[in-house]
Amino acid sequence: MIASVGVDSCCICDVKKEEGIRIISAFICESCEQQIVSADPQQEQYDDYVHRLKNVHRLSLDGVSF
Ligand SMILES: [Zn+2]
Repeated sequence: MIASVGVDSCCICDVKKEEGIRIISAFICESCEQQIVSADPQQEQYDDYVHRLKNVHRLSLDGVSF
């Protein structure tokens, strides 16, 4: 899933970062990635991340979910 690394705006926090992961057309910075990885599914914040990522998938894959 990790295609490349470079400078881009994070799709979670909208902050430009030099380091992060790119999932298809979506870029997620390291700090957001860490927060997602360490997020507690019981927390509301986790739901927000999942919601944003679902939007990314929809935009990137044009309706195809995985
Ligand atoms: Zn971020």
